[in-house]
Amino acid sequence: MTAMVDTQPATEASLEGAATPDDAQAPRRPSLSPSRAADFKTCPLLYRFRTIDRLPERKSLAAVRGTLVHSVLERLYDLPASGRTVEAAQELLAPAWAELREEPGVADLFATAQEDGAETDANAPESVEAWLASAGRLVEKYFTLEDPTRIQPHGREELVEVTLPDGLLLRGYVDRLDLAANGALRVVDYKTGSTPREMFEGKALFQMKFYALVLWRTRGVVASQLKLIYLGDGEALTYAPDEAKLVRFERTLQAIWTAIERAVATGDFRPNKTRLCGWCDHQAVCPAWGGTPPPFPVEAAAAAGWRTTLPVVELG
Ligand code: SF4
Repeated sequence: MTAMVDTQPATEASLEGAATPDDAQAPRRPSLSPSRAADFKTCPLLYRFRTIDRLPERKSLAAVRGTLVHSVLERLYDLPASGRTVEAAQELLAPAWAELREEPGVADLFATAQEDGAETDANAPESVEAWLASAGRLVEKYFTLEDPTRIQPHGREELVEVTLPDGLLLRGYVDRLDLAANGALRVVDYKTGSTPREMFEGKALFQMKFYALVLWRTRGVVASQLKLIYLGDGEALTYAPDEAKLVRFERTLQAIWTAIERAVATGDFRPNKTRLCGWCDHQAVCPAWGGTPPPFPVEAAAAAGWRTTLPVVELG
């Protein structure tokens, strides 16, 4: 699975990430993941709605397809190396989908998409079968980028976390970790979209630098390569970090965290109205769109370990 960072100027995937693998297990105390850091950078109020209020969001066909493809690629490496063929990968789609469709909201999503699609969305799938076929094409594309018979992952869907000296807890899930015989570490992330344009590469790499920093701080090894695999167009983006860059990146994360803590303490989460709002589920309660946010959930925030000086607002 993947954590989403807005790698495109405006796509449906741009604001996805309400429930990413980074959030799969509740952290022991407030923490920063790549997805939530990206939320705050995109729009502080969006961060609040997702992380503090935990307002529900709709699933999307694109996000569910991403989950499915990630599941298949993870399971592919359970097979013996010689058996990791395109055909074997395609056969993994059905069992992965059987599990995924039991998750809340997934079946409903299809019902809605099929009812509304013809009138509102020219790209809506005509059937679950057509949607599954599109996932199959992404899986097939993977084989044009890597030869899985020659790769033995060191880790898959691996939780990485570290507490920095100032107390900031960083955590996230890495799609795949490769460890060479000489100790070289490679961090791999699968994306089901297409390669970002050059000006958005930095945003795409934010997540990878995050993982590289955590791995460096926990293992003492700077990853030799960060690799983003874009299954949408069959391209890959690679980056070689070094210690100096990771130190600078650590300062960036600390600055983001300081800003988040200040916002929590005061309840002041500003909306940032951009074209990405078109993909945000919270316009109805967003002041930038004429809405009124719910009262800041002081008690829930305190229970989750946030420090806030705000008074509790009695409802009702
Ligand atoms: S609608 Fe736009 S400004 Fe409002 S919370 Fe969502 S992303 Fe932020």
